[in-house]
Amino acid sequence: MPDLTRREFLRRSMLISAGLAFVSCEDDDHDPETVEDSPGMLTVDRPPKKIVIVGAGMSGLVAGYELTRAGHNVTILEARERIGGRVLTLRTPFSDGHSAEAGAARIPPDHDMTLGYAEHFGLTLDPFYPRSGLYVDLSDGNRSLIPTADFLDDRPWPGSVKHKEYVKIRDGTDRLPHAFAEFLTEQINLMTPIETIEQTDGGVTVHASDGSVFSADRVLCTVPLPVLSRITFIPQLSAEKVAAMRGGYNYAPSTRIFIQFANRFWESEGLNGWGNTDWPEEIWQPTWDREGPRGIIMSYLRYNRAVEVDRLSGEERITDVLDRWEGVLPNVNDHVESGTSHSWALEKWSGAAWASPTAEQDAALRSHIGKAEGRVHFAGEHASDYHGWMQGALVSGLRAAREIHEGD
Ligand SMILES: Cc1cc2nc3c(=O)[nH]c(=O)nc-3n(C[C@H](O)[C@H](O)[C@H](O)COP(=O)(O)OP(=O)(O)OC[C@H]3O[C@@H](n4cnc5c(N)ncnc54)[C@H](O)[C@@H]3O)c2cc1C
Repeated sequence: MPDLTRREFLRRSMLISAGLAFVSCEDDDHDPETVEDSPGMLTVDRPPKKIVIVGAGMSGLVAGYELTRAGHNVTILEARERIGGRVLTLRTPFSDGHSAEAGAARIPPDHDMTLGYAEHFGLTLDPFYPRSGLYVDLSDGNRSLIPTADFLDDRPWPGSVKHKEYVKIRDGTDRLPHAFAEFLTEQINLMTPIETIEQTDGGVTVHASDGSVFSADRVLCTVPLPVLSRITFIPQLSAEKVAAMRGGYNYAPSTRIFIQFANRFWESEGLNGWGNTDWPEEIWQPTWDREGPRGIIMSYLRYNRAVEVDRLSGEERITDVLDRWEGVLPNVNDHVESGTSHSWALEKWSGAAWASPTAEQDAALRSHIGKAEGRVHFAGEHASDYHGWMQGALVSGLRAAREIHEGD
């Protein structure tokens, strides 16, 4: 964000918290109707409400950001010791300042909210896939090398945009949740797992596991379905939500395994360290646009393959992937320095990677999952039309923020 815009933004934010939002445009040349400095900005014309948001992932953060800027009194309660949820840029145990994404990484061109907020915060976008070097493919035991242009014109899966259209956030996807959180330092409470959400006549009471209690006019719950059953709702949630959180709405498991190499030995063959195998897995080299000599290569596993490697110990996952990669990157074992892995199914506060319902589950439950129940509202990628994307978290978070903002 350019300096001037940022200053103006901070000034307006201070005015909003001081209850002076209506004067925010009086002394400048802008027409208030046309000043739209974030993609999901709310009007500043409603009486302030006391709002508790459960979860500091992308959906909770965007809702907290816009509701705070609209003058509401927001508290965000997060179970983990970090913000971001399924946006997690790993910066350890890698050397030379390298990093790699355990969660969200690539952004397609039609994800207007993700791209819009990245622009709003002045983040830089880079191509996701390398523009030079050969890609490698291993199918039926046959190794082939794919010319750069052919790969970039192909798609990661049917129905996707082409590889060449994806971008990423420079320095790590976590720059985006951190940009929201920078504005919300007063509002976010980390290491505060919520155990009970109780609606009373006058409002909602939220109980954390450490005994602290928060009262609110409205609550926004952004907890993913696989771990939602850890929260007791009084009164109980609708039969549809209960069915969804008890396994009636499928989720995909996903695990990533990262290996750090002392050098980028694949370059001697003209490779860029990216490719696919029919195991199946996607192979990424997140260090392709960073200074060498070290490099990180990652195996991206989903569904059954993720379940298989989740049964292995951390050490076994690394030897397993390296054994497999001998057929993809010959002599790979000679260059290994270290490795790590991240399983979303085994994460206590996620329980899986993303919602992946069957057509039947979707038809029966989709419209219920994001529906407010009394004074409790719901958001998250699972409550959107974009399962498995930051865009879904942002769109649903903004939808819920509007509901709360415009409600009584
Ligand atoms: C492997 C993987 C790859 C992905 N790739 C991409 C990609 O390339 N591009 C893209 O755009 N998106 C991608 N995504 C999807 C994207 O990361 C998610 O859709 C998005 O981050 C979800 O945000 P959310 O707010 O809905 O949920 P979350 O990020 O899960 O946030 C929910 C929060 O609630 C907290 N919580 C849970 N229970 C409690 C409790 N009881 N009390 C308090 N807090 C609680 C959690 O700790 C968490 O912080 C990927 C996700 C994964 C896992």
